[in-house]
Amino acid sequence: MSELRAIRGMHDILPDETPYWQFLENTVATVLASYGYNEIRLPVVEKTALFKRSIGEVTDIVEKEMYTFDDRNGDSMTLRPEGTAGCVRAAIQQNLLSTARRLWYTGPMFRYERPQKGRQRQFHQVGVESFGVATPDMDAELILMCARLWQQLGLTDCVELQLNTIGSVQARGAYRAALVEYLQGHVEALDEDSQRRLLANPLRILDSKNADTQAILDDAPGLEDFLDEEARADFSQLGELLQVAGVNFVVNRRLVRGLDYYNKTVFEWVTSKLGAQGTVCAGGRYDGLVQQLGGKATPAVGFAMGMERLVLLLQEEKVATNGPGIDVYAVAVGDEAYRMALAAVERIRGANPKLRIMQNTGGGSLKSQIKKADKSGAHVALIWAEDEVAAGSVTVKSLRESNGERIEQRTIAMGELEQALRGVFAH
Ligand code: ATP
Ligand code: MG
Repeated sequence: MSELRAIRGMHDILPDETPYWQFLENTVATVLASYGYNEIRLPVVEKTALFKRSIGEVTDIVEKEMYTFDDRNGDSMTLRPEGTAGCVRAAIQQNLLSTARRLWYTGPMFRYERPQKGRQRQFHQVGVESFGVATPDMDAELILMCARLWQQLGLTDCVELQLNTIGSVQARGAYRAALVEYLQGHVEALDEDSQRRLLANPLRILDSKNADTQAILDDAPGLEDFLDEEARADFSQLGELLQVAGVNFVVNRRLVRGLDYYNKTVFEWVTSKLGAQGTVCAGGRYDGLVQQLGGKATPAVGFAMGMERLVLLLQEEKVATNGPGIDVYAVAVGDEAYRMALAAVERIRGANPKLRIMQNTGGGSLKSQIKKADKSGAHVALIWAEDEVAAGSVTVKSLRESNGERIEQRTIAMGELEQALRGVFAH
């Protein structure tokens, strides 16, 4: 039988990584709540048509990255490659758009890409969407919220904010025509992807990672010359608001984003510490999408963060998390000691819900249990053996330093145990 392994690009997240995930997820939830955002939970599978209509037929995602299959009824389904489409679908279907809404969600996304560091086939995003506000104070709030999150995560110094405006649909149309005209004079020199995109989705060429293509773009007409007044005014107001709030940014005129539905503000938070996969968070305004998917015209703006890349950054930056493992290991030698320990440990857990206590199971000699206690990574072992049972006491043994202190081994009355533990784990 061939070995059963996980699918390429779909990863197990192991116990020594999950503390980073939990730290990230908890911090995200706290920061988003502090700005008044509410969580929404959405299906992982949607009708294929939803993604085709929202993301756009001529995008990397729809053209070549979607996990699409027919269900047993012959209907075409797709594992969600991103969250905005499903969130907009739900907001329309559930009538959430009669008032302004600030929503967020998290979960796995699926894209058939070439796996590499920071790029997987199953990956995780946190997405944030704000519906019903057209003014740039909303864009500013989202960006401020990201900045607050980086601060809480200890990542402020590793990320840079890049901003652009891509204007109204009309402005983009005019620019698109000018860009195509210019690039048609240089077709031969463009990379293959860009040649293909020239007629279908030429703005994406600005995004090309190919150096020759980028050199040709140096003399191309610039989007900024085609922008409408409203987009210009909104963009400069956004810039002012960010300045007032003390958030630094750089304007990147070639930032266009990969999905069709964006307009006006687009932004990315980029790090130089993860190699080629440097964008940890990306978003922008998409005022046309709700109507395009059958809802009433509703302005919207949102972003998505790549959780794997943020976890890599946290690890890279050695950001302290509440590591895996346990605080206390309870050793009991013999049946009577075990019963005494069981009752005591349960009592301690009840009184200290955050203390992590592992009780030895499967018996064993004092020596072998102490060995297991040591290996467990616990700071303290509590020992119940023959003497302790006879005296109604417990021995507290330090296994490693805790808060810079190492307590001596001592035997105390059971009644003093609570107090002794509090001394060791005074956070
Ligand atoms: P990229 O240019 O890196 O392919 P994208 O424009 O396709 O990114 P978005 O659709 O905007 O990405 O998704 C938002 C964020 O989700 C990205 O900035 C990135 O952090 C993360 N992300 C996207 N695709 C992947 C993937 N395959 N694996 C891991 N993270 C991803
Ligand atoms: Mg991509």
